[in-house]
Amino acid sequence: MSAKIIDGKKISEFFRAEYKERVERLARYDARPGLAVIIVGADPASEVYVRNKGKACESIGMHSEIHALPAETTQTELIAWVEKLNAMPAIHGVLVQLPLPAHIDDRAVIEAIHPDKDVDGFHCANMGALVIDESPFPPCTPYGVMKMLAFENIPIEGKHVVIVGRSNIVGKPQAMLMLKAGATVTVCHSKTQDLAKFTRDADILVAAVGRANMVRADMVKPGAVVIDVGINRLADGKLCGDVDFVSVSAVASHITPVPGGVGPMTITMLLGNTLRAAERKTQLQMLPTGTAFA
Ligand code: NDP
Repeated sequence: MSAKIIDGKKISEFFRAEYKERVERLARYDARPGLAVIIVGADPASEVYVRNKGKACESIGMHSEIHALPAETTQTELIAWVEKLNAMPAIHGVLVQLPLPAHIDDRAVIEAIHPDKDVDGFHCANMGALVIDESPFPPCTPYGVMKMLAFENIPIEGKHVVIVGRSNIVGKPQAMLMLKAGATVTVCHSKTQDLAKFTRDADILVAAVGRANMVRADMVKPGAVVIDVGINRLADGKLCGDVDFVSVSAVASHITPVPGGVGPMTITMLLGNTLRAAERKTQLQMLPTGTAFA
């Protein structure tokens, strides 16, 4: 068997075309979605991610601005920046690029973002809303995975989904979204004993660990759908995922490549969440004052 490659770039183009139309529709109401990204320090990988987010916004007509702060920025100063952006009407989404320098508490900064502008979906209010199936901003990476599966018409309901990784930004929200979609979900992590026993039972396997090529063909059920969230840089500078792409392709029915799989979808979902934030605000503004929403 040779797995069908799920092309994240192609699927991204599909969604970005739809988002571009929605941005144009908002322009008729003199509204333009705006994303502000704050980056602290000079981590080269983060700088690339932030630049790509800015370019993606511009490609569909959204406003974006990048605030690059020095590595020695204090937590108080950073939170003051977040609050300033929270108050700016032209900004609908505020994102603080992670990781932050060690002297800053990520959680305190994320909680300072107004939940209505939390387009990463990491604020406690939005995480809580996700658990009860009502988040306006599902975290971008797991949300992108759901959109990829939907685009490929891969059924989720009744399937056994095994997620390797339990981080707040990927594994846990992925589990919530899969539960909502009707899957039976198993979440594995570094303390899981006999990982292969679980992965071999997956109809859909999501690897979100950060260990190059750790998922091998003998850990995958024949015909399974394999989603590789991991991004790892090898000694020769090349990127690879958590899944051993060549060997697993011979066993799986579908597989995402790295690069060109989940990565582009993450940025696309960020555009979607920012757009949704702007649409929600514009709808509120268009309502006469005194209504239930005003
Ligand atoms: P974290 O480091 O926060 O989480 C990694 C998870 O993997 C943890 O839950 C950890 O378990 C688990 N883990 C570590 N070692 C093992 C092991 N040997 N067996 C089973 N589980 C293990 O990473 P993130 O969730 O932030 O990211 C995961 C990967 O996805 C990274 O490569 C990252 O670069 C990539 N990524 C890609 C994105 C994209 O757009 N494609 C977006 C975000 C992340 P424990 O909790 O017990 O420590």
